[in-house]
Amino acid sequence: MANFRISVINGDGIGPEVAVEGLKVLHTLGAKCGHTFSTKDYLAGGAALDATGVPLPDDTVKGVKDSDALLFGAIGGPKWENLPHHLKPEAGLLKLRKELDAWANLRPAVVFDELADASSLKPEVLKGTDIMVLRELTGGIYFGLPRGIDGSGPNRRGFNTEVYHEYEIERIVRMAFQIALGRRKKVCSVDKANVLESSQVWREVAIRVGKEFPQVALSHMYVDNAAMQLVRDPKQFDVIVTGNIFGDILSDEASQLTGSIGMLASASVGGPVGFFEPIHGSAPDIAGQQKANPLAMIGTLSLLLRYGLKLDQEAALIDRAIRKVLQDGLRTGDIKQPGLPILTTTQMGDAVVERLKAL
Ligand code: NAD
Repeated sequence: MANFRISVINGDGIGPEVAVEGLKVLHTLGAKCGHTFSTKDYLAGGAALDATGVPLPDDTVKGVKDSDALLFGAIGGPKWENLPHHLKPEAGLLKLRKELDAWANLRPAVVFDELADASSLKPEVLKGTDIMVLRELTGGIYFGLPRGIDGSGPNRRGFNTEVYHEYEIERIVRMAFQIALGRRKKVCSVDKANVLESSQVWREVAIRVGKEFPQVALSHMYVDNAAMQLVRDPKQFDVIVTGNIFGDILSDEASQLTGSIGMLASASVGGPVGFFEPIHGSAPDIAGQQKANPLAMIGTLSLLLRYGLKLDQEAALIDRAIRKVLQDGLRTGDIKQPGLPILTTTQMGDAVVERLKAL
């Protein structure tokens, strides 16, 4: 039994609609397991711009840093699209990510048997897929120096630098092994060591850290092959760990295996406070219509419990409740199937709460 302080940023569009369902599930879990989750709301994105004139008020940063974890809905929308760059909702999100110094991005890609038909790949290829992609988030070519554009005429050039220090590789690879210990005990480190020196160092460090985890099988794959294997035979993967740019691409590819964006959760951790959010945006096209699927947000809650608060058993209960609503044939519009009723956002949240109570 414990008390946890969760900061909540509802955000814009469907953000508040799915966040309210996530919190319903969180408080049900608290009552069931004897924990108290004290939640506190903060502003960011369009809602913050409307209320305070900036996309990320200082007290949001301060409050979030003073909590145990952040649950984030989604931000943005047409209303704020034409503001200058530094005032756009996205500028607030990037600043918050930077403030929280999260160097590891976790993206599970789980194919539920009941939804295997929703993907563009064949169900028999997909069934049983359960991958955790770990992407390094604060290093690599997106941040490396020098970078820029110089010269003129035909000699004008753009350039970036892919650079990885051993300490950056070591910490994320170690996290991958630790996560794999609680899963199927396989880590695939993805690089381009046949061409890039930064990848050569990546691979050497992965092998060195791997020696600390003899129970976990380590394999290596070049990124081009990994992109191919993900669609050829995704079931072969358990944990994938890779650098920033490769992870950016592969995590999106892996998420497409699962069908709907309304099912996908993510976590950014490594800093003092973890940042937990569904991967979808504010979906202005369906906002305010009770059409949003809250399962991405509820799945995000499971990541928050497992990787933010170290509450593995509680996270497993949420996972089971999600699986149960799907087994029971409950669907929102984005995952609709012939012959099954379509639930509203609130009805889907209620259904998860009911299943959770019954577990
Ligand atoms: P989006 O993810 O909001 O929507 C893409 C499509 O998926 C839409 O058709 C939408 O209806 C659907 N969708 C998204 N989430 C859903 C859910 N839970 N249930 C059912 N359907 C769902 O992406 P977009 O349309 O490119 O962006 C809309 C706004 O969101 C933009 O302002 C963008 O900048 C912002 N955005 C924010 C974040 C974030 O807050 N982290 C991430 C991506 C985009």
